[in-house]
Amino acid sequence: MTILAIHGGAGGDGEWRGLTSLDPARIRCMHHVLKSIGDALESGSIDALEAVTQAVELMEDEPLFNAGIGSVLDEDGTVTMDASIMNGADGAAGAVVNVRRIRHPIRAANCILKQGWPVMLNSQAADEFAIQNGVEEVQPTWLITDLRQKQWNLWKEQNARPGATDEDDSVLDHDLEGMGTVGAVALDKNGGVAAATSTGGMTGKPKGRIGDTPIIGAGTWADANIAISCTGVGEAFIRTCGAHRLATKFEAALSLDDACRDVLDAVEPIGGRGGVIAVTAEGDVATPFQTMLMYRGVWKHGEITIGIGPNDVDLDSMDS
Ligand code: ASP
Repeated sequence: MTILAIHGGAGGDGEWRGLTSLDPARIRCMHHVLKSIGDALESGSIDALEAVTQAVELMEDEPLFNAGIGSVLDEDGTVTMDASIMNGADGAAGAVVNVRRIRHPIRAANCILKQGWPVMLNSQAADEFAIQNGVEEVQPTWLITDLRQKQWNLWKEQNARPGATDEDDSVLDHDLEGMGTVGAVALDKNGGVAAATSTGGMTGKPKGRIGDTPIIGAGTWADANIAISCTGVGEAFIRTCGAHRLATKFEAALSLDDACRDVLDAVEPIGGRGGVIAVTAEGDVATPFQTMLMYRGVWKHGEITIGIGPNDVDLDSMDS
């Protein structure tokens, strides 16, 4: 059995207000990721680790998600990105923080994982390591899109709290709070699982701020039983070791749904509302969230489901 689940970030308060004019493009991207990587996983041509890497790379390339090109801007108006990856079978992990000059932070994290030591590199050293290892170099300004620039301008004008304008398509079509971080979890033919997460963080984040995304055990976790990628206000996922907590609860015999619920309940009182995606070695998958929406999708047995608000999107009604 093979499974791929992905997310494109969680956010927003209150009632679901329906799709925005930008959501069809996000849905098309998720559909393409699920179909192409799901099929490759099923054929056995890639394992879970490569599947989550390629899935996240494709989402890093979609400017409407907050990772790679289209990352949100820091307080000083620049892009700094974080990513991490973990392989369940051997517990190997890799992470980069504060990178600015590469197209695919998740591939950099994968290269670190493959090298074996250390687990995490930061800033310029991480960019240089990645470029030397073949990750595509880009100009820092190439990563900045008009939408993110407008959201940052709005954030600056309103003197808002970090993250307040991240998914503000109001510059285009709606005004909800959210993040757009991307992540993937996969189960391959050999029963191996892996998890990967990549982000630009939160609009207006203070210089040097690192969220949960690149922290193994907070935003990303994989072991022999389960792979997890989290999204939401990172500080709460760090303070609860969110992803690792979920794995521990699952190992201690909570059902997958209950283990996910436990983590969402733990982050909520400390301001960390968000969502998680998880896949188990036994073939269960969950994509719960406590925000207005979470961009999410699952490929299982060749079947694709995609959701944003509370219900799945009717893919037949979309011309994707
Ligand atoms: N967790 C990410 C961070 O705090 C943001 C997100 O998931 O949307 O940097």
